[in-house]
Amino acid sequence: MNNFTYFDHAATTSVDPKVFEAMKFYFSEKYGNASSIHSFGQEANRAVDNARETVSKYLGCDSEEIIFTSGATESNNLCLKGIVEKSEIEKPHIIISKIEHHCVLETVEYLEKKGKIEATYLNVDKEGIVNTKDVQSSLKENTILVSIMYANNEVGTIQPIKKIGKLLEKINESRKNKIYFHTDAVQAIGYLDCNVQSLGVDLLSLSAHKFYGPKGIGVLFVRKETKIAPLHHGGAHEFGLRAGTLNVPLIVGLGVAIELLQTKEYKNNLKNISSLRDKLITEILRKIPQTTLNGSRENRVPGNANFRFKNIEGESILLGLDFEGIYTSTGSACASGSLKPSHVLLALGIPQEEAHGSLRITLGKDNTKEDINKILKVLPKIVKNLRKISPLK
Ligand code: PLP
Repeated sequence: MNNFTYFDHAATTSVDPKVFEAMKFYFSEKYGNASSIHSFGQEANRAVDNARETVSKYLGCDSEEIIFTSGATESNNLCLKGIVEKSEIEKPHIIISKIEHHCVLETVEYLEKKGKIEATYLNVDKEGIVNTKDVQSSLKENTILVSIMYANNEVGTIQPIKKIGKLLEKINESRKNKIYFHTDAVQAIGYLDCNVQSLGVDLLSLSAHKFYGPKGIGVLFVRKETKIAPLHHGGAHEFGLRAGTLNVPLIVGLGVAIELLQTKEYKNNLKNISSLRDKLITEILRKIPQTTLNGSRENRVPGNANFRFKNIEGESILLGLDFEGIYTSTGSACASGSLKPSHVLLALGIPQEEAHGSLRITLGKDNTKEDINKILKVLPKIVKNLRKISPLK
């Protein structure tokens, strides 16, 4: 039994014991190199093939369209830089939203600063949703890629990926140069349909540690015939797209984590997560005055709740909760430590001083009613005490 309460599942999750058990074997017993020709290596290779098959079935694609990477940061970099490098257009154009994860945003900014691309950063509405019409009106003759995240990591808002996919499919019918469509599905997997055919995406990124798998392993789905260059050189691994010895135990762990998402037990758990999260939102808004929910009330992934509390700093609330053994976040884990207000909250039109007062609470499969009662008991007191001493009043 943990003596702490974990509410930071958008940052990372625990490794499911079944995942851990499956991985162990490939660390210490079947430790062969999946590229070795001998039968010991081929056993490891078969384990990789099985995991690849599991992922491809889950995403509704062929197994040769699955590239294992070190996580979504690499998947997103590979997608953006790889597509740009292979493009025959002199200065191609990329469209993303203003609320993408830093690993997309900063990669696009980097490519733009280097003079390699033109970029459009789409606005979102006050709930954090991209308008499909804005995607359409931003398209140019030199557009080669649209990359819009499936669900936001800070406010959990879900984007109209299927709608954008349909739009681009139609537009591509009469275009000379194809516009590729990529989605960062890191925060959506396990909650939303990730079938790449129904989404209409050409590329999709995942990271195993967000769904009870290990850290340091991810996926980039790359549709066949996509013109993309590798980031790494020095081996023919991963269909020539990602050189380097395969991390067999982590790949096995990712495969098992995907299998577990499809079990009845996990699906039942989802209902539990939604109802606990709804109770949390209702009660926090009822018990704590001058508090607002960031993002959409309905159109958000089940585990996400994100609030702003007037006149106090999110960091102070986080520390108050930490003292009580409750772990939350003020935004994206990669941006914590930065004093800048969240680019996501600013893009939602939230004033800078209010954005600073935000707290993200993200639930997972092991959270209970007792966890919700615990935070509901301490949070109002923490907010009240901080407001008493706040110079911001
Ligand atoms: N994309 C999104 C939406 C994320 O939430 C994260 C992690 O927080 C990433 C990409 C990067 O994933 P990783 O750090 O596992 O590479």
